Amino acid sequence: MAILADGESLLLIDGELVAGGSGTFPTLNPATEETLGIAANASADDMGAAIGAARRAFDDTGWSTDVDLRVRCLRQLQDALTKHTEELRELTMAEVGAPRMLTSAAQLEGPIADLSFSADTAENYSWRTDLGVASPMGIKTRRTVAREAIGVVGAITPWNFPHQINLAKIGPALAAGNTVVLKPAPDTPWCAAVLGELVTEHTDIPPGVFNIVTSADHGVGALLSRDPRVDMVSFTGSTATGRAVMADGAPTIKKVFLELGGKSAFLVLDDADLAGACSMAAFTASMHAGQGCAITTRLLVPRARYDEAVGAAAATMGGLRPGDPTDPGTVCGPLISARQRDRVQGYLDSAIAEGGRFACGGGCPADRQSGFFIEPTVIAGLDNSATVSREEIFGPVLTVIAHDGDDDAVRIANDSPYGLSGTVFSPDLERADAVAARLRVGTVNINGGVWYSADMPFGGYKQSGIGREMGLAGFEEYLEIKSIATAVS
Ligand code: NAD
Repeated sequence: MAILADGESLLLIDGELVAGGSGTFPTLNPATEETLGIAANASADDMGAAIGAARRAFDDTGWSTDVDLRVRCLRQLQDALTKHTEELRELTMAEVGAPRMLTSAAQLEGPIADLSFSADTAENYSWRTDLGVASPMGIKTRRTVAREAIGVVGAITPWNFPHQINLAKIGPALAAGNTVVLKPAPDTPWCAAVLGELVTEHTDIPPGVFNIVTSADHGVGALLSRDPRVDMVSFTGSTATGRAVMADGAPTIKKVFLELGGKSAFLVLDDADLAGACSMAAFTASMHAGQGCAITTRLLVPRARYDEAVGAAAATMGGLRPGDPTDPGTVCGPLISARQRDRVQGYLDSAIAEGGRFACGGGCPADRQSGFFIEPTVIAGLDNSATVSREEIFGPVLTVIAHDGDDDAVRIANDSPYGLSGTVFSPDLERADAVAARLRVGTVNINGGVWYSADMPFGGYKQSGIGREMGLAGFEEYLEIKSIATAVS
């Protein structure tokens, strides 16, 4: 079966692929601005039906207690995704604008492979731990700690790494025994809807266990946070929306798991290979047009070598022309939408208004007649108080900031409402490690190390989020803990 062969995607509700109550909405290719096709536009009633189905599947079936079934279903889903990898690659380049080179890693193949981690973890997990017999308050008691699924999980996801984020939620949530309603971003409905086709065609996932609700209306996603039948919302997106999810979930005391924005720093210490480090920072900031929450977008360099650092970053970034995502050499594709491109341009304008200058880039590329492209841009001449140093831009933009030694670099890096990630460059690993230990962030890369892998927890400090995705910690986010005390004689 070819995926999405009709040019129209459907909702998955209670095991059936169905049309949306609010008609359809188009999905675009951001590199060409052409319409790829249409997606089902869910109504509030559709969301209600999906939540109802997930609730019934959790309460009235054996899904939450049948580990073998869950493991089998996840492996079936992984096999189906693997079988359709090439079609999914084409879809990812077309709908997300993701460069081909990233689809062999975190954009597609990585998250498909990572489903094994969820299945393996469920298979080998200690669902009950015996703490032995003790006599608290003089009563002889056998103590057991049981781990159980939380219930109905609402998964709300963004467009920038849709497969990675959808699967990093669905995998552990289902493996842990929950039922799920997935609400993807309106910009990438097909990357989620394709899961509906694969689940119905290739897996034994029972009706209602996994539901997919695409919608052009953000308000349909908000229903997940408000509905008392939903036990947990697992959200990835902007910090502003994360606040709304928390507020909407408060009346029903929902568990909220939040992966939010970032403004991460790349710290080049004064003994580092300056040109090499700045070049890597520039390359990273251009990848997928900078549309990654953990991308390091503030380059902190020794003040005495500031101009040299700006030159090195601009030499790399200026050479990375934004291009066709299907071209194997493209690093920087388009932004996802005209709205996002205009937002990034607004930030670039603010940099000039606040006294900064462009060492390269600064606007839309003249050689691109269509598509939502922005030139990779290095901003110089500003400090950490500038708007572009404080706010998440989500475009291929790197701001170079001077520091006066390790303490100052740590101070600047931590002077942010966000705390998602960071990079430290120094040949002195003890020194780099000491700096890394002082960063208030959830992931640190030292000298180019890669923290992205199925068994490494990922998440943010401060306003970058609550909780961890991936790794054992990511699996346990989807579990409740029950302590059982049995009186014994
Ligand atoms: P967004 O916050 O606008 O939207 C994310 C999702 O939330 C979409 O599905 C959207 O429809 C939905 N939504 C919007 N308003 C809602 C509401 N009131 N209630 C419930 N759902 C609502 O984010 P985006 O523009 O799609 O994605 C970019 C953002 O995501 C960036 O800020 C980026 O840093 C962040 N992000 C974070 C991580 C991470 O792991 N920390 C990963 C990727 C992206």
